[in-house]
Amino acid sequence: MFPDLPLKTNRNDTDMTAWPIPEALSPSSTSTFQNCPLQFRFQNIQNLLQPPSFAAVKGNVVHRALELLFGLEPEQRTEEAALAFAQTARTEFEPTYDITGLNLNEPQLDAFWKDCDSLVKSYLRMEDPKSVNVVDLELWVQAPINDFGLRGYVDRIERDTEGNLIISDYKTGKAPREQDVDAKMQQLHMYAYMLREMRGEAPAKVSLMFVKDGIRHTRAVTEQTMKFVVTKTSALFKTISNACTTGNFPTKKSALCNFCSFKDWCPEFGGNPDDAEVGAAVKYPRPAA
Ligand code: SF4
Repeated sequence: MFPDLPLKTNRNDTDMTAWPIPEALSPSSTSTFQNCPLQFRFQNIQNLLQPPSFAAVKGNVVHRALELLFGLEPEQRTEEAALAFAQTARTEFEPTYDITGLNLNEPQLDAFWKDCDSLVKSYLRMEDPKSVNVVDLELWVQAPINDFGLRGYVDRIERDTEGNLIISDYKTGKAPREQDVDAKMQQLHMYAYMLREMRGEAPAKVSLMFVKDGIRHTRAVTEQTMKFVVTKTSALFKTISNACTTGNFPTKKSALCNFCSFKDWCPEFGGNPDDAEVGAAVKYPRPAA
């Protein structure tokens, strides 16, 4: 569910408080660290087991249906094809732990799949997929910044009618308040930076598509936004490296704690982080492959 970050060892025989420092960050891991450093430690440094997330799995099903749709020639991207691919995505996901690990009963599962279909329909009301000039889908991107790397997957890269590259990212959750949009765009600016470093061509715009609410936000990519990616991620990497070296990953209590898989081992809720490794393995056992 969360791609592992490559880690380099940072422990020695005398200092067992230190954690390995990541060699690369993904846009989503930077946002996890900003939301809560301790959650970042559990999820991205210790790679602890956790159950699938209802919202994330729904997003993955819809992403898969749209990926399949955009694999067709433009004139074939009809509503009928989109809904057929929603069914294909369902067939692919149904037997996996992503779905079985949600522990939904029949009516809940039924509602889950209906919701996925309705998100696909809602996407179709946002734009005509026949008009999208797709360049790449689910593209792996990476680039070095100083002494670390950035990496991740871009949902969709397209060219607009003027020939400019655009990066688009689908979101299936609720659209943020206007004043929070720029913070959400930071991840997309990181993708723009990586794409320019890899291909030598900077995207002109980045675009967030909130398919549930039918809202699209677009921002220009400029030299300033590129520089900001370097400054911001370098500062974050330094803070993360310090946390790994000192072993100090503070908690950051917020509404997001309600969705955190590691609450049982969080000091904010009376838990002990040292118990998390064993506790997560017991609480979230994976079915045999
Ligand atoms: S419960 Fe909240 S404060 Fe504790 S680790 Fe999770 S997100 Fe952080």
